[in-house]
Amino acid sequence: MSATDHLFEKLVNVVGPKYASIELCDRLVYSKDYSIEGFAGDYTPDVIVKPASVEEVQQIVEIANDLGVPIYTWGGGTSMSGNPLAVRHGIVLDMKRMNRILEVDPDNLTMTVESGATMAEVQTAAMKHNVFFTHQPESCLSSTIGGALSCMGISIFGAKYGYAYDQVTGLEVVLGTGNTIQVGGKSYLNVPAHNLLNLFLGAEGTLGIITKAILKVYPIPQTRDRISIGFPDIATAMEACKRVHSSGCWPETVYAFDRRSLVQYMERAKTPIPEELSMAILFGCSGDSDMVEKSLEVISRCCQETDGYELPTEVTESWWDSVNINRETFDKSNFALSHTDYEPDLIDACLPFSRFQEFSDYCDELKREFGWVDIDFGSFIVAGPRGPIPFCIYFAVPIDTRIPREVEKWFEFKERMYTHALEMGGSVSNANGVGLRSAPWVRDQLGSAWDLLTGIKSLTDPNNIFNRGQRGFD
Ligand SMILES: Cc1cc2nc3c(=O)[nH]c(=O)nc-3n(C[C@H](O)[C@H](O)[C@H](O)COP(=O)(O)OP(=O)(O)OC[C@H]3O[C@@H](n4cnc5c(N)ncnc54)[C@H](O)[C@@H]3O)c2cc1C
Repeated sequence: MSATDHLFEKLVNVVGPKYASIELCDRLVYSKDYSIEGFAGDYTPDVIVKPASVEEVQQIVEIANDLGVPIYTWGGGTSMSGNPLAVRHGIVLDMKRMNRILEVDPDNLTMTVESGATMAEVQTAAMKHNVFFTHQPESCLSSTIGGALSCMGISIFGAKYGYAYDQVTGLEVVLGTGNTIQVGGKSYLNVPAHNLLNLFLGAEGTLGIITKAILKVYPIPQTRDRISIGFPDIATAMEACKRVHSSGCWPETVYAFDRRSLVQYMERAKTPIPEELSMAILFGCSGDSDMVEKSLEVISRCCQETDGYELPTEVTESWWDSVNINRETFDKSNFALSHTDYEPDLIDACLPFSRFQEFSDYCDELKREFGWVDIDFGSFIVAGPRGPIPFCIYFAVPIDTRIPREVEKWFEFKERMYTHALEMGGSVSNANGVGLRSAPWVRDQLGSAWDLLTGIKSLTDPNNIFNRGQRGFD
């Protein structure tokens, strides 16, 4: 019997024959996520296994330890950084059977869910109790709670509520030792002394397998409304954000798109975008209706003081429909890149606020050097934990992955951009995790803290079975 057959037999003993597979057609499904990195190597796992309980996860971890086989935890596989890919083959552990909503507790504004629940499932359950879960990524129909908490996800309401991982107060985690631990709880300050909860958030499956999460939810606001404002360039748009911040308004949505991004998002909507428009911000507010009305009025005034001008309502609404994706609105999404032969990829860099314009100019310079002047680069900027002050700039680019040289060129381009972001005092990843994509820069960025991180990894995962070869780990 081969080593893989032996492994398969042991896994079948845990989950039953229906929930484990060594068939090539099943394994190929898990050989790619949504990253371009996924096209650059063979990441086909040896075995797929789908546990239904924390006890089964524990037993699988024990088997992996005994046989020295790596485990790659898989949520929805929607990652854009290659982080669930089985770079050293072994086991893909698909969490989607563990998708139970265990409790919605509107009195304490929490809900408890298994980590394989998708964001849409969580949202639907929350709404039935008149509360809402604030993390609503565009991938919400397929991406899971485990993936969102592991990737530092951020989404449309992030300007008010922050990252996905700001929405969690407690976790159940299976460690590489096979032990299960609980960190945090329902109370917001449930962490004695050291905040162990945070250790597992944004860890991309390298320190433990999240099996359960206690999430924050909020009352559904009475009203939601929005405006969009045009600006001559990034610098004036960012100045406007500062003014909005100092006005005391706290919008929940602050998305700044350049013209090309707007076209990418709104192409299918056929809404005419004003000719002269080069940069625009969508501001969304929520709360009591008089509060929302006043906030939008103040935001409009702040923007006009910095050369901004209000865009027609049909542009605002069409833009909103394109980015506000949930189970009900999915069909209205106009995101053009999802409907082409090309793979959309992103460069995401968190930068000091004042340097977005400079970084964008550098991107234009590189495009000329690479002969990519006509390629459809769209840039967009999102706001997060600092309210209306944006922190991350993305460049979204369609890549023809059928042409290997195009893919290579794209990797060279990304390398230059990320290196420049670090030189500017920035960091190389935001909501999409580090994965394979920005792994080469992790050690540089962490400096001497890298040794601390590997020390922590050796405690939570002594045999290095979790996501081996990912995120800069060996
Ligand atoms: C069309 C599209 C739109 C997107 N829009 C957004 C957006 O608006 N905002 C945003 O933040 N992201 C967005 N993304 C990126 C992606 O959806 C997110 O990163 C998402 O959180 C990944 O979740 P997943 O369940 O698919 O995780 P996967 O891709 O399966 O895995 C991602 C990482 O999480 C780890 N992981 C998964 N489950 C667990 C677990 N239970 N325990 C420990 N580790 C685990 C994996 O090992 C891997 O490292 C988008 C992607 C696409 C394709």
